[in-house]
Amino acid sequence: MNYITNIQKYSIHDGDGIRTTVFFKGCPLKCVWCHNPETQRFERELQYDKEKCIGCGACAKVCPQSAISMTEGKPVLDKSLCNLCGKCENYCPEGIRETVGEEYPVKELVKELMKDLMFYEQSGGGVTLSGGEVMAMSTEYVLEIAKALKKEEISLTIDTCGYVPYDKFEAVLPYVDTFLYDVKVMNPELHKKYIGVDNRLILENLVKLSDAGARIYIRIPTVKEVNGNDENMKATIQFLKEHNIHPAQVNLLPYHNTGSSKYPKLDMEYKGTDLTAPTNEEMEGFVKLFQDEGFSNTRIGG
Ligand code: SF4
Ligand code: SF4
Repeated sequence: MNYITNIQKYSIHDGDGIRTTVFFKGCPLKCVWCHNPETQRFERELQYDKEKCIGCGACAKVCPQSAISMTEGKPVLDKSLCNLCGKCENYCPEGIRETVGEEYPVKELVKELMKDLMFYEQSGGGVTLSGGEVMAMSTEYVLEIAKALKKEEISLTIDTCGYVPYDKFEAVLPYVDTFLYDVKVMNPELHKKYIGVDNRLILENLVKLSDAGARIYIRIPTVKEVNGNDENMKATIQFLKEHNIHPAQVNLLPYHNTGSSKYPKLDMEYKGTDLTAPTNEEMEGFVKLFQDEGFSNTRIGG
């Protein structure tokens, strides 16, 4: 099933112009610094903000599945009983319970995306499909959205981690204007350590997409302890040059931990507490490395 966690209007960091960004639920990677943990699991789920809970017990009383028990004044969920009906969400006086992940038929989604047509036209923007990992959704579904947007002459950008079989990219390629393509760590062992898988498939797909003539923005989420060093940036540059890849932009995105507070709501542990962003001087140094090697359109930020 394909679920959406959020449709974000007026995005200015997800490609060209003003865009509406659609966040899909489910990702094959597990980046330690992930700031959208609600998009990691493919299935719908229930989240609640433990910090703000006043322990009133309304959620437990109203649950038709008896999935919530009050323990030491706090609601405890038995996930095996919860059918995600959303009733507790409606009755919580603090508004801190939320089911995450919604199904959108293509027609309904495109109708929603069309509401901002004027902004796309005025700014040279459009729609960005993101996540999670949009390319890990069913190809038929993504293709249907892409075709519908093309028909409406709306520019489509795909924000991807690259870790899917190439035939999925091949299918959507004729309908996509730009790919925001994450290249995180060049060392395969470090990639596995911090992201959960090695980077072979990701790099292979990048070469294939580039050879197929795709317009690509390379995105490097830059974390001091992981990839924020000259060695990794030089290895990235070397790879791009070796494979004759000419990205329209290279975006170095400094690490931030704004997503860490979301983890407890989902009963997940944030493992990036020791991570930091490189200094401004270091970031500027990385930009210079790219620019000196001919990647003049390299910048800090998206
Ligand atoms: S979503 Fe429904 S079943 Fe799940 S805990 Fe809330 S009320 Fe109970
Ligand atoms: S209804 Fe809301 S505030 Fe009350 S116990 Fe449940 S989660 Fe906490």
